[in-house]
Amino acid sequence: MQINQQTGDTNFPLSKMEAPIFKVLAETAEKTNTEIYVIGGFVRDLYLDRPSKDIDVVVLGNGIAFAEKVGQKLKTNVAVFKNFGTAMLKHSDLEVEFVGARKESYRANSRKPIVEDGTLEDDQLRRDFTINALAISLNQPSFGQIVDPFNGLEDLENKLIRTPLDPVVTFSDDPLRMMRAIRFASQLNFKIDQTAVDAIQSQKERIKIVSKERISDELNKIILSKKPSIGFNYLFDTGLLELIFPQMAKLYGVDVIKGRAHKDNFYHTLEVLDNICQTTDDLWLRWAAILHDIAKPATKRFEEGHGWTFHGHEDKGARMVPQIFAQLKLPLNEKMKFVQKLVQLHLRPIVLAQDIVTDSAVRRLLFEAGEDIESLMLLCNADITTKNEYKVKKYRNNFELVKQKLKDVEERDQLRNWQPPISGNDIMETFGLSAGKEVGILKNAIREAILEGDITNSYEEAFNYMLQKAKELGLSHV
Ligand code: ATP
Repeated sequence: MQINQQTGDTNFPLSKMEAPIFKVLAETAEKTNTEIYVIGGFVRDLYLDRPSKDIDVVVLGNGIAFAEKVGQKLKTNVAVFKNFGTAMLKHSDLEVEFVGARKESYRANSRKPIVEDGTLEDDQLRRDFTINALAISLNQPSFGQIVDPFNGLEDLENKLIRTPLDPVVTFSDDPLRMMRAIRFASQLNFKIDQTAVDAIQSQKERIKIVSKERISDELNKIILSKKPSIGFNYLFDTGLLELIFPQMAKLYGVDVIKGRAHKDNFYHTLEVLDNICQTTDDLWLRWAAILHDIAKPATKRFEEGHGWTFHGHEDKGARMVPQIFAQLKLPLNEKMKFVQKLVQLHLRPIVLAQDIVTDSAVRRLLFEAGEDIESLMLLCNADITTKNEYKVKKYRNNFELVKQKLKDVEERDQLRNWQPPISGNDIMETFGLSAGKEVGILKNAIREAILEGDITNSYEEAFNYMLQKAKELGLSHV
């Protein structure tokens, strides 16, 4: 938090309010005799020294009319959202949103409040958390002074998410706030006040009135935070995860049979997720980490003389991906396909790293992973969560060997995004066939021969091989 160490002055971030827009806002306020304040996330981020491009301005009076005055002064367009009573303008890289101070009250069946005009304090009271209710005056003579009726600054200092009102009421009124509390805890590495945690626990069923899209929006923000396990632990401990993403909650738990236990797949998944966050900001690669073992509960078996197994969890997991994406309203497009592919292939480099690495196994992996081979290797590295230093070293070394081998084979055979040198059309033309079983058989045979290394990846060898295979099938060249 930015507090001037010498004076203890909490107005210190004011130096960051030297952007010309604040001068324009203050002048317009003075000229129109209107009281205005910067409020919410911008003020919080100012104190936390986080970059922020969205400025929310609360106007004691008509927010839209005030925005239009500012727009005239700046000679810029103002977008008016009459239904919401808000207006927005852009100034350099900043987005400024204006709203009249308001008081809100809620009904049981909707997140949408009944809104009426209110005071600054009413407006601060309707905010979700004390750290989001901070306001800074833009009026003379109090310009720059912080208005902090709920000790938000202290909570910033103590890294605490707390609600201005009774948290049971706050979360019951608008249950999205439960997700927001956990998202801010994860993004800012804050703790949630214990009474608020208890309130989330007691109000968790209310999440059902929130749209799936909103929930996933917050979930994605948690996943994009530096250490998403903070958020997921809160989601799990409060019982929210069971409601919004039960497949993930099912990963929790350890079974013991005959003194043999398997690892807790929930905490393992969180470790893999935190690990991968150190190497990538890609949301979908992070999703692949979350889902890589998602089918372990469904495939878990205890085999006598062998212990716990999860045979086929990568196949079943890949099959679960579309349904989970649909349920969470995540995009059912190439992003989903990418996640699905990584879940499907996540064991392959490990198997390669354990066995003697043959060229054909590497070729097959390159063929199947294509462009996503680097992402897959990142996932596999993140998947090493053993605490046994010796094993970590061994796996990492083996991965380096696999990587080197991948590089060698790729340089030689160029299999990334590879298309076999003979197409289905070539086959049909050569033998006067129409689309059908034989074309598939020949295409497969050529691909297999190249991947196995029986022939090289060239047109000539593939063509000769095709003729030979066709003969075996009783086909003749036209
Ligand atoms: P971010 O930009 O990271 O999402 P933010 O705090 O700026 O953080 P916004 O969603 O833009 O989040 O909201 C701006 C402000 O509006 C918040 O700081 C908070 O004061 C208030 N706010 C937003 N959503 C809610 C809500 N569901 N309930 C109460 N207040 C809210």
